[in-house]
Amino acid sequence: IIEQIAPENTKNAPAHLFPWPKTEGHKFDRGHGVIVGGQQMTGATRLAALCARRVGAGLITIAARGTAYMVYRTCEPGNLVSNDNLNEILADPRKNTVLIGPGLGIGEGRKALVKDLLNTDKNLILDADALTMLAGHNWQNRAGETLLTPHEGEFKRLFPDITGSKLERARQAAHQSKATVLLKGPDTVIAAPDGRCTINTTGTPWLATAGSGDSLAGICLGLICQGLNSYDGACLGTWLHGKCAETGGVGLISEDISTLLPEVLKTLQ
Ligand code: AMP
Ligand code: MG
Repeated sequence: IIEQIAPENTKNAPAHLFPWPKTEGHKFDRGHGVIVGGQQMTGATRLAALCARRVGAGLITIAARGTAYMVYRTCEPGNLVSNDNLNEILADPRKNTVLIGPGLGIGEGRKALVKDLLNTDKNLILDADALTMLAGHNWQNRAGETLLTPHEGEFKRLFPDITGSKLERARQAAHQSKATVLLKGPDTVIAAPDGRCTINTTGTPWLATAGSGDSLAGICLGLICQGLNSYDGACLGTWLHGKCAETGGVGLISEDISTLLPEVLKTLQ
């Protein structure tokens, strides 16, 4: 099944998937996502957290270490910030989805952290440095869902043997890894392990800027922690991300994406 989401093709737009807050809702009913915070590139984490909250996540916890802990504590007041051990942070079953990668950096300790997360039952979104460190590692049969969000360079590092068209490569990677693969670019392809595939065409070249991918990962986190499966979260997230760029127009920077989300969401009501 190959679906094509075109900008003006509202029939095929995944808008119907959006988890609107319920009248009687409570923040604990609206998903609790966790972001493993970067130690140096704290901005990537902050952008992701803002986007996750803008798409309706009830709570976002940033797991922080070292001096970055105080950075997170003293910026956006709506984030929860914890420097507890990650296992302790994740002990609460309501924290169902974890994003790791934006701003993470690489190193043996961080690689071990990513591998430990693969052994949990949490839904995982693996982006950026987390993908780079997983090259050559096999993680089939996870208990939770897995979403990989590589750009072309990260994809090549992770799946060096996969060749073919962009569509075929994403599909083969999803089949091989048993994860949903969101292969980014002007024509982002989203492939599920069961063979479903979507080509997203919302967006503009202004998205080719620092922090844009981190924002997309945050949008996906916010949707998946509210109960969307990885494939639906990735399709809707990519569509919304592109629509923000179209709404913002020229001069878009990544800080704008979370700010533009309410305007885009209003068009879905
Ligand atoms: P990253 O490379 O992780 O920063 O992610 C960049 C984001 O911008 C992804 O969502 C890409 O799909 C998107 N993007 C990059 N270049 C373009 C482009 N030329 N046109 C539309 N979207 C793009
Ligand atoms: Mg990136």
